[in-house]
Amino acid sequence: MGKAMIIGCGGVARAAIHKCCQNSGVFEEIMIASRTKSKCDALKASLEGKTETVIKTARLDADKKEEIIALINEFKPDVVLNLALPYQDLTIMDACLETKTHYVDTANYEPLDTAKFEYKWQWAYRERFEKAGITALLGSGFDPGVTGVYCAYAMKHYFDEINYIDILDCNGGDHGYPFATNFNPEINIREVSAKGSYWENGNLIETEPMEIKRVYNFDGVGEKDMYLLHHEELESLGINIKGIKRIRFFMTFGQSYLTHLKCLENVGMTSIVPIEYKGMKIVPLQFLKAVLPDPASLGPRTVGKTNIGCIMRGKKDGKDVNYYVYNICDHQECYKEVGSQAVSYTTGVPAMIGAMLVMTGIWQKPGVYNVEEFDPDPFMDALNKHGLPWIENFNPVLVD
Ligand code: NDP
Repeated sequence: MGKAMIIGCGGVARAAIHKCCQNSGVFEEIMIASRTKSKCDALKASLEGKTETVIKTARLDADKKEEIIALINEFKPDVVLNLALPYQDLTIMDACLETKTHYVDTANYEPLDTAKFEYKWQWAYRERFEKAGITALLGSGFDPGVTGVYCAYAMKHYFDEINYIDILDCNGGDHGYPFATNFNPEINIREVSAKGSYWENGNLIETEPMEIKRVYNFDGVGEKDMYLLHHEELESLGINIKGIKRIRFFMTFGQSYLTHLKCLENVGMTSIVPIEYKGMKIVPLQFLKAVLPDPASLGPRTVGKTNIGCIMRGKKDGKDVNYYVYNICDHQECYKEVGSQAVSYTTGVPAMIGAMLVMTGIWQKPGVYNVEEFDPDPFMDALNKHGLPWIENFNPVLVD
């Protein structure tokens, strides 16, 4: 049915590419384009003979708009799926604009020198995408991504207004290392060492990092400590969900992770301000990334499950409604299927689904949109079909 160009070849891309290859009826041809071409070639070699999807590879520096434009012009994809890092979002969007190609990503733009992610830079492309007649779908991972689709689905089928949303992201997995991150260490540490925030009555209320802690008993995982973090979907859901009063995002962390992180922070290893070392400029966090285990290598060692979902409270026909929708995913099952652990899998599957819906025209609308702005039903059906089935509970235990 179409051609997708996938940029990046890390943990998330690996899962998404496997899923595209299981769905050859839609993804007839894919181009895997990333900074290190040998990774793209190795992945292609591991998939060949097991899929009908025709796979091409290319070296690409996605910080360079001209390189992206040249590759798009050569391959002529129907959609570009950006699974590189948030720093590349804008150059890739610029290239899509110039070539009139649809765009999908999983994480919002972050400037390299400021650990602050916001949608304002990407939302500023709205008019230009509208004029060019192409769609940009932002944040089609799990969170953001599936969490926004869950909210849109709840709004469509169960609520007249949703007043409170708690997004709970639990990773009950164990990789056996004292300290490692489940996705790109630089992005992960920037996210968790930043100030927390929650959305309330139209404003983002800031908290100190890890200031707010709760304990929750997760289906399939058990009881875990979780901490309130700032997260990008607060910004878009705060605008797109009718009747919303408060949105919070919680993520689970084990004590060992937090103790290591505190220590690394205290000695300055998580800083993004370059330091001078033997005549060289080094960013401590980038150096730390180089010494930590590659998230892609955690797959074979990680056991346990993730449980990610949204608890919503609101009203339907004047009556109170509580609703919890979530997915449970098993690290080892994911590894067996696509060679990545569940954190990459739960992001890669929705990335493939987003690209599929845009490419097939089901989710096409000129402009720049977040996932909750489209009809959630085809996405929810696809989640059940492609490995991330969801569970509903109309009488959930609430966070407070
Ligand atoms: P990885 O670090 O494993 O992979 C990133 C890939 O991008 C690597 O292959 C890297 O190349 C490539 N890359 C980096 N810079 C460039 C560049 N300038 N040009 C071309 N390719 C480049 O990260 P993940 O797979 O863990 O994460 C991918 C994305 O998914 C991130 O944006 C992350 O924030 C997002 N994410 C979203 C989630 C969600 O639920 N919405 C959850 C988890 C992640 P090389 O191999 O050379 O390093």
